[in-house]
Amino acid sequence: MSKSDKRAIIRTLRTAADLGLSLIYPPRCPLCETVLPIARRIRPEGQERSCWERPLICDDCRGKLPYNSGAVCLRCGTCIADEREEYCRVCLLRERLFRQGMSVFLYQGKMRDSLMRMKFHNHREYIPFYADEMKRASEAFLRRAQPSVIIPVPMHERKRRERGFDQCALLARRFSECSGIPVQTDNVVRVRYTKPQKGLNAQERRNNLKNAFSVRRPQELSGPVLVIDDIYTTGTTMDAMASVLLENGCGPVFFLTLCCARIMQ
Ligand SMILES: [Zn+2]
Ligand SMILES: [Zn+2]
Repeated sequence: MSKSDKRAIIRTLRTAADLGLSLIYPPRCPLCETVLPIARRIRPEGQERSCWERPLICDDCRGKLPYNSGAVCLRCGTCIADEREEYCRVCLLRERLFRQGMSVFLYQGKMRDSLMRMKFHNHREYIPFYADEMKRASEAFLRRAQPSVIIPVPMHERKRRERGFDQCALLARRFSECSGIPVQTDNVVRVRYTKPQKGLNAQERRNNLKNAFSVRRPQELSGPVLVIDDIYTTGTTMDAMASVLLENGCGPVFFLTLCCARIMQ
């Protein structure tokens, strides 16, 4: 049997295994958890032939996604209440180390519940949907930023063991597959076990992250970097990441997050 025959058999077996798994554990909508069809026929825009596609979300939720599509801060991409303003309060008051960032969704309603289920109830199967949305929303942003590498915000090893997986690393890997931009998931590490940022004030957030990150192999980094995270709040984490990346000779630093938490400003 030739190598290509073997590969074809392995591929067929894998597809059959996937299909079998889908029958036992049918894929569900990442937002409302209704069972999704395993595949459906679609005709891509501008093409004559139809093809099969695996839906990542139900049609009902597709029409109601909470995109971060209103007025946003030109620097951090967070939504701002007054559309005449160019920058949010935090960016006006604080020197930013990252160049620019954007978030795809507002962290609210079913989107927030979905992200919580993914993180705390191990719904890793939502990640292809998240990465696909990040890819669609960031095309113009990526053309401007031209990142040479993707770096996820790292999780401390102890936390990764407790949770069993690192959602940002998985998201960054999948986003790399969709976008074709190389990813390095183990080059920047979290060297200090930090408290959750939630509930801390601005100064406490900065102190909490002081010297939290470290670059292992700076020689492998150069040029613009795209940092990936799941939620953007005040940007303290992004500034800490930008700081360590800039110190190690790369940059400018851009970021892309799935959601931004609405802090009315
Ligand atoms: Zn749904
Ligand atoms: Zn801002």
